Amino acid sequence: MAEIETGMTREEHFSEEDWVDFARQQGSMEQHARLARHLDGGCERCRPTVEFWQAVRGLAGQEASYRPPEGSSARPGRSSRFGGPKGSSGG
Ligand SMILES: [Zn+2]
Repeated sequence: MAEIETGMTREEHFSEEDWVDFARQQGSMEQHARLARHLDGGCERCRPTVEFWQAVRGLAGQEASYRPPEGSSARPGRSSRFGGPKGSSGG
């Protein structure tokens, strides 16, 4: 006798934290797969939550893509001078 649990017999939804990790692509791949399968099932309850956090993640990613305009006169030239006017001792 072997009962294979296929599908979701009972209504089980994931918490918001789970979907946050899902949107941010964090956590284990196993958990990620479970969440993906849940969405694949067409859960109308969890879908808006995922879309929300994915949108939040997208907004946060825009900052990373932002780059300063080109044409910066001051270029990072390295000129480290050793020594200085400091240091006067009797001698
Ligand atoms: Zn759900």
